[in-house]
Amino acid sequence: MIVTVASGKGGTGKTTVAVSLALSIAADRRNLAGNESGQPVRPLFLDCDVEEPNAALFLKPTIEERKEVGQLIPEVDPEKCIYCGRCAEVCQYHAIAVVGKKVLVFPELCHGCGSCTLNCPTGAITEVLDVMGTIERGWAGPVEFAQGTMNVGEPMAVPIIRQLKRWAIPPEPGDRPIVLDAPPGTACPVVETMRGADFVLLVTEPTPFGLHDLRLAVEVARNELGLPVGVVINRDGVGDRGVEAYCAEEGIPILMRIPLDRRIAEAYSEGIPLVEALPEYRQRFAALWEEIAARVRQAREDADA
Ligand code: SF4
Ligand code: SF4
Repeated sequence: MIVTVASGKGGTGKTTVAVSLALSIAADRRNLAGNESGQPVRPLFLDCDVEEPNAALFLKPTIEERKEVGQLIPEVDPEKCIYCGRCAEVCQYHAIAVVGKKVLVFPELCHGCGSCTLNCPTGAITEVLDVMGTIERGWAGPVEFAQGTMNVGEPMAVPIIRQLKRWAIPPEPGDRPIVLDAPPGTACPVVETMRGADFVLLVTEPTPFGLHDLRLAVEVARNELGLPVGVVINRDGVGDRGVEAYCAEEGIPILMRIPLDRRIAEAYSEGIPLVEALPEYRQRFAALWEEIAARVRQAREDADA
């Protein structure tokens, strides 16, 4: 089961929730006891916030494998090119141009679709990897960990997130708990992180700003992608009751409330996961996972009916 933890904006406690969820699933007695084949259930955690990954600060994984990722862009052999302009004609993204006896490639516009290569009449184009970042994986104790990091100055995060997910998530994940920590906001990188999830957990604050961004996140997750959503209210008790009223109106379940607590902020600033600083939260996060699993099962049954 894949759960994406997202929020309309940064600083709402999204990573705190995602990390706590993964650690609590790993420590849950039922999961330690093992699955049907007797193997302990090991959650998989992906930090998809490739512009600023920070979950590793809390999980402190040992990285075992790393590779460069990017996208294939065209490279033109001037010996074979006849400057016919076909490549520029077929490129929908204006990422390649033929100017006199020169072919110019604009990697930042290229989507790696391969049309230019396919349509070049002389085979002058080969595809080379334009490195955009790295993806890594390893283990943080009982939690399998993976993250992507985008190189400074790269314009597109989506290809890195897509390759991270393809590399780290097994093709048939079944019921294995998989937690994805999404980038902040509601732009394309967030959509890519939500795509394919079974459930989107939205972390928000009970303030007008929190409500504004929550609405946008619900619009993307539920209305555009058709995914079931639930809300965690962080710093519960500050602000107003606008988020609660909105959730009630929209039929969105509030699955957990985390009160404003100085100890949580202190643990965060020291890179200590919430459930390690306050172990009483483990049970609550394990129960949160069970609640999400029940809702996903129900949604599947409803879809089959
Ligand atoms: S399609 Fe091929 S031959 Fe024609 S201009 Fe482009 S690279 Fe050169
Ligand atoms: S790979 Fe696609 S997007 Fe990139 S230059 Fe060729 S046609 Fe354009």
